[in-house]
Amino acid sequence: AQHYFTTIKMIKISTINEAISNNDVQVLDSSIYNGHEKILFCKDTSTNLKAIIAVHSTKLGPGLGGCRMWDYKNQNEALNDVLRLSRGMTYKASITGLNLGGGKAVIIGDSKKDKTKELMESFGEFVESLGGKYITAEDVGMSPSDMKDIRKKTSHVVGTPKEMGGSGDPSIVTAYGVYMGIKGSAKFRWGNDNLQNKKVFVQGVGKVGGFLIDYLKKDGCEIIINDIDIEKMSEIASNKNVNIVSENEMFNKSYDIYAPCALGATLNDENIEALKCEIIAGGANNQLEKEGFHDVLLKKKNILYAPDFLINAGGLINVYSELKKWDKEKTLRMTENIYDTTISILKRSEKEDISTHKAALSIAKERLNK
Ligand code: NAD
Repeated sequence: AQHYFTTIKMIKISTINEAISNNDVQVLDSSIYNGHEKILFCKDTSTNLKAIIAVHSTKLGPGLGGCRMWDYKNQNEALNDVLRLSRGMTYKASITGLNLGGGKAVIIGDSKKDKTKELMESFGEFVESLGGKYITAEDVGMSPSDMKDIRKKTSHVVGTPKEMGGSGDPSIVTAYGVYMGIKGSAKFRWGNDNLQNKKVFVQGVGKVGGFLIDYLKKDGCEIIINDIDIEKMSEIASNKNVNIVSENEMFNKSYDIYAPCALGATLNDENIEALKCEIIAGGANNQLEKEGFHDVLLKKKNILYAPDFLINAGGLINVYSELKKWDKEKTLRMTENIYDTTISILKRSEKEDISTHKAALSIAKERLNK
């Protein structure tokens, strides 16, 4: 029998009453928990922390996944994000062959304005309360120095700075894995993985997008970028000598490759309708707004989609190395496997006439069910 066991645990002050009165979350009965093992709602009024930690599965090991700090419109948006992200981590670890489960955390707030050392420490206390079922790391809006603050309260944290014995920012390895996924996709689509003169649209030029540009530029790609952070976008455009496309225009242009490296759900009805590219391969998590629908739509449009949870696994491999005391070389070699895995998944999708997302998911589920 399959166990759907969701623990809603509250420490300090509960957010549940608030949620019920807003009628926005069916706290115990909602199907949105989708088989999650544990959801921890965290609120600490002394530090203004509002966070949610979701552990989707610990079947293959502790749920390891980054913590995202984002200025969500409301708590529902944050909850949906953490549930989708943690589920994705289960499949990411599985398909990558790591003995890890799936977990993820979100902190509600603007990382530029609301982040304090105390808030990070308070988050660390909540991570500690899960006793190792969840191990945290960086995601959007978080850095190795935040991991250092979290470390003061819990040992269940990776991606700490190198001087502390950690593996540092995982983003560069994530970007390397995405680059491998792009090359694997190119090989499958065009018969060779030479990216010279390929036009690539990188959406989101943060940590992953920024490093990805470097790899692609070395291969002679023509890069076009967009980011909602106008200042950062202009800085990257001039430092890395790449062109900018406006938000209004970005899905009206033609590209060889679209690399989503911002937040999720950019593969939705509207964007897919407009998209003119041959390959989608990027670092963002949860790129498909509706799994099982938008992946099929892309297949119908003959756009090759490299499953996000497969090709952005480099960062997870890197932080896993911190637990296993691997060296850098081993981490990079394992990340390079993403090239072959991408090709084998694309082949499977073609052979079985299923979407590439479905092909990747079945491989991940096969390992989980073994
Ligand atoms: P980051 O915060 O460094 O960068 C994200 C960038 O996206 C920021 O510059 C932000 O301004 C921009 N952005 C946000 N919304 C946007 C939009 N609508 N349009 C254009 N730009 C937008 O984060 P990151 O660590 O580079 O992560 C990027 C993505 O990759 C996220 O989805 C993250 O979950 C995923 N990911 C990251 C890692 C990692 O190692 N950092 C690993 C796996 C997956």
